[in-house]
Amino acid sequence: MTEIDKDALRRKYREERDKRLRPDGNDQYLRLTGRFAHYLDDPYTPMTERAPKSDHVTIAVIGGGFAGLVTGARLKEAGVEDVRIVEKGGDFGGTWYWNRYPGAQCDTASFVYMPLLEETGHMPTEKYAHAPEILEHCRRIGKHFGLYDNALLHTEVLDLTWDETRSRWTITTNRGDAFTAQFVAMGIGPLHVPKLPGIPGIQDFAGHSFHTSRWDYAYTGGDPSGAPLDRLADQRVAVIGTGATAVQCVPHLARACQELYVVQRTPSSVDVRDNRPTDPEWFATIATTGWQQRWLENFTANQAGGQAEEDLVMDGWTDISRRFRAKLKELPPEELTQESMLAAFEDSDFEKMEEIRARVDTVIEDPETARRLKAWYRQLCKRPCFHDEYLQAFNVPGTHLVDTDGKGVERITEKGVVVAGREYEVDCVIYASGFEVGTDYTRRAGYDVTGRGGVRLSEHWAQGMRTLHGVHVHGFPNAFLVQPTQGANLISNIPHNLTEAGRTIAVTVRHALDHGHAEIEPTAQAEEAWVEFLLSGTGPALGSPDCTPGYYNNEGRHLGKKGWLGVGHPHGAMAYFAYIDRWRTSGTFEGLEFRPYGAGPRSDRTRQS
Ligand code: NDP
Repeated sequence: MTEIDKDALRRKYREERDKRLRPDGNDQYLRLTGRFAHYLDDPYTPMTERAPKSDHVTIAVIGGGFAGLVTGARLKEAGVEDVRIVEKGGDFGGTWYWNRYPGAQCDTASFVYMPLLEETGHMPTEKYAHAPEILEHCRRIGKHFGLYDNALLHTEVLDLTWDETRSRWTITTNRGDAFTAQFVAMGIGPLHVPKLPGIPGIQDFAGHSFHTSRWDYAYTGGDPSGAPLDRLADQRVAVIGTGATAVQCVPHLARACQELYVVQRTPSSVDVRDNRPTDPEWFATIATTGWQQRWLENFTANQAGGQAEEDLVMDGWTDISRRFRAKLKELPPEELTQESMLAAFEDSDFEKMEEIRARVDTVIEDPETARRLKAWYRQLCKRPCFHDEYLQAFNVPGTHLVDTDGKGVERITEKGVVVAGREYEVDCVIYASGFEVGTDYTRRAGYDVTGRGGVRLSEHWAQGMRTLHGVHVHGFPNAFLVQPTQGANLISNIPHNLTEAGRTIAVTVRHALDHGHAEIEPTAQAEEAWVEFLLSGTGPALGSPDCTPGYYNNEGRHLGKKGWLGVGHPHGAMAYFAYIDRWRTSGTFEGLEFRPYGAGPRSDRTRQS
């Protein structure tokens, strides 16, 4: 490899970032309300009428994606039978219910990405399973653990209010339900509110349009399993956005459209995918008791603070850390300082990104197109992508890269999209423009939570998220979060965070039920101590303001302390998983208070007496 001019690269990265910084940050995007509300309609399952619920359940789980499913599964395993999942989609699956665009597949190896494989006895058919198989797996989990029995599908929660006198939650929904639950678990998902770019004139387009998370197969032809999009042969289509979603659907569009315009603001880094079918004989050799937990731990150990001898998973994520560790090994032990480690990290990043850029040249026939497809930032500034057909799609006649040089689409007209003063007339615009991130939790949830004393979660978190272990929140008894932040925060494998949270919740609820406790709540001191502990770390692993803007870094705008609270365990995901396992098995539930009906927290009782 030729010598890398590091200063020149740093300069280039800065220039490319500066081009893209904009004062409106997250406000540049549009919510799908008002005239855009129909973009959110469910194209996959017709709504069926049902009578509203006004009963009582032991636990309501909000969200029927991986988070809700694994929590429901762990609860059932713990003998908690009365579980009700409330899900806005027409079936379980969450992100895999909504995202059925052609080519959708997981980017983390299926063996660690797909949860509860061992429990359900499923062998992923490919190293990176495609969306229909993952959606089917969600249904499998639902059936295996009996989670359909009491579920409310096509149902959105409107309000959650704690009833102090009866020690239970009242849940109201858009289907007229008003039922109660002793406990609630919220697994609303990190990327589930589609957004549109706020491009001037977006409302004027007279052709067809949709967001990738509500793919309109009636318009394109084809189906989620990859059948050709046979209604596009005479269509001119523009795709806006070149993130992980576009990378997967563009090859399918390129094969099908008369003309395809891929409108790019920032190129993705697209590394080798190397997908392959699973060999059942090989799988039989690895799938011995406890295999998936071993693989999960190995995956995490390989990249998030662990000491792994071997790399079982060998995917794009573990490759990033393998390279970094190799660089570290080159350093003499006496030179191992934080500075030298950061430099080693930067070196391995430069090398990796140079390879990814060189790959563009080897694949793309037109040198100008190749130049424009190169990503100029550190790899983890944006979500890394892995694909073996995306770049190749730009060699297909009729597929055009419309590079906006960081500026984005200038305007949308009745007839098409305008970039750098040129209008591209199209019949259809497909928005691969992503999902809301970095906005307030309750805004994304679509409901607020009213806890003890009428305090709202939006108020409690006005200065940023505050939890114990990323699961419990002071002032919100019997309510649990199922998500990564303030826990392991392992972004390369979100489902691992969720299965662990599910375990924690199941153990805690089981303990309360076994001992006749009506309420569980973290003490204010425990929550404060956990938050202080989180803040003692080096800050968010992702989202450096030096990066080119994107949702990893709040579109390049500092979030202050709020942003700092979006972290995980200061010593890494491995340390969190080990800690929380000890916490669960100790049986002392340190930091939680268990109370009888209507008792109120001990601190309040002391004040009153
Ligand atoms: P992203 O937010 O990653 O991408 C949105 C795209 O829209 C970006 O390329 C963005 O450009 C572009 N864009 C926004 N505004 C404009 C504008 N005004 N003009 C032109 N372009 C614009 O969304 P995705 O749906 O691709 O992915 C979201 C996340 O979902 C991923 O990061 C990943 O975490 C997850 N995902 C996971 C998959 C998997 O595991 N297999 C597959 C797909 C998604 P810019 O970069 O300049 O902001």
